[in-house]
Amino acid sequence: KEGGSTAKVLKVGTDAGFAPFEFQDEKSKEYVGFDMDLIKALGKQMGYEVQIQNMNFDGLIPGLEANNIDAIASGMTITEARKQKVNFTKPYYQAGLTIVVKSENNSIKNFKDLEGKKIAVQIGTTGAAEAKKIKDAQVREFNNAPEAFMELKAGGVDAVVNDKPVNEYYIAQSGSKDAKAVGEPLQAEEYGIAVAKKNTELAGKLDKALDELKKNGEYEKIYVKWFGKKP
Ligand code: GLN
Repeated sequence: KEGGSTAKVLKVGTDAGFAPFEFQDEKSKEYVGFDMDLIKALGKQMGYEVQIQNMNFDGLIPGLEANNIDAIASGMTITEARKQKVNFTKPYYQAGLTIVVKSENNSIKNFKDLEGKKIAVQIGTTGAAEAKKIKDAQVREFNNAPEAFMELKAGGVDAVVNDKPVNEYYIAQSGSKDAKAVGEPLQAEEYGIAVAKKNTELAGKLDKALDELKKNGEYEKIYVKWFGKKP
């Protein structure tokens, strides 16, 4: 870099098909979204230059374990199973799972109604894990959330089980004509940034930087930018 920047590089993996948390801007081709702004602000606070790598969601933790990336910022829910493999920062966003159905569907109103139904999910997600617990449901797994939504639109499935904020954003984008979200959030989920199990130092630095961004108003600014309301 010109000017001899000494910033250390933080390689961050994301699955950029999860608006409004991470997606590719059509014009600039840049990866944008709440997570992208947050991780860049965290990097800046810590003196790192953030480099984003787009990959499939189910490749993120293996990528971390193989040292190909330093951190995951990808709307990743903090779960006990994942904690066996990675270190999470403190939670930075509260989410949960809801159901998306076609607008004209009036028979599916909650998770119980999904019994025996065809459900599209994103592979490796909490939505996939929960859908598989539903009695007699046929669960079809897709590489990313947009593909699962496309399958619903095409009529291949009855419903999509996915993160509430992403479902709401999808519905708002599609003009709420084709699809609607139903059901109370199945369970509270919290997103965290993941780092390698051995990298406790980086997790600590990220936590400290997150606290600082919460104190100085930067976190709130980014939140309002993407969600139109205060956290
Ligand atoms: N929050 C969900 C999970 O962690 C989905 C994340 C995603 O698809 N990016 O499994």
